[in-house]
Amino acid sequence: MNDQLQRFLLDNTDIRGELVQLNKTYKDTLAAHRYPEAVGRLLGEFLAAAALLSATLKFDGIISLQARSDGEVPLIMAEATSEHKLRGIARGADLAASDEFKDLLSSGHMTITIEPKQGKRYQGIVSLEGDNLAQCLESYFRQSEQLSTRIWLSSSDEQVAGMMLQQLPATDSAKGEVRTADWEHATHLANTLTSDELLSLDFNQLLYRLYNQEQVRLFEPAELEFSCHCSRDRTLRALMTVGETDLLEIINEQGAVETNCEFCHQHYQFTGKDIKSLFEPPLH
Ligand SMILES: [Zn+2]
Repeated sequence: MNDQLQRFLLDNTDIRGELVQLNKTYKDTLAAHRYPEAVGRLLGEFLAAAALLSATLKFDGIISLQARSDGEVPLIMAEATSEHKLRGIARGADLAASDEFKDLLSSGHMTITIEPKQGKRYQGIVSLEGDNLAQCLESYFRQSEQLSTRIWLSSSDEQVAGMMLQQLPATDSAKGEVRTADWEHATHLANTLTSDELLSLDFNQLLYRLYNQEQVRLFEPAELEFSCHCSRDRTLRALMTVGETDLLEIINEQGAVETNCEFCHQHYQFTGKDIKSLFEPPLH
């Protein structure tokens, strides 16, 4: 199974879709950690959702989903870049025992951040009141955008998959009633898809299963992969919040400041010289 993001259009309607399947990316993301199974599957859904949402980016940048809760998973997040690199992590969830979304993320909220390479970042927040991640994302779209959006997500221990349908801005030719009927028809068919089908059918089989009576236009699929964009420089700058005095004290005691990236376990080591350069005032 491939790690791909596939865009399609239902011809003669204002509806577009995205399909995603993740296998290696999913395994690579989980590889560096030992999550309880349910947490791993939830993280998989976050990855798939980030990939689907990245398809809505109209510029180079990163989209991230970050959920905090009072439940068994205090923090979980996934990011996708416009270059189709994904990474994700769950924190503090090693003892999670439930399979239920509502237990894992009870009283939670999710922040969706869109960070363009150039320009201002956008942030939206949605409370995690739905029964699953897909429902929560749909509320986010209802709150923040005019475009109707439906999302389906499914994960097993091996594989994660997702589908998104979105109503495009109305064209002049489509009358309101036709537009509504098209949308209801497309989402009704999509609702008949089982979780197993979403996980196991390849994109062509899946689209045939749902829309063999419609004209489906396929675009070139994008390849997705796990990739961490941490760097030595960025890691050093993140240490600024610790403060110079505390950092120099660590160096006195341990010889160096050492950190591991949470996402990819890349090891970074900083000397007293690195720390001093970090806090040096700019030249002018
Ligand atoms: Zn990293």
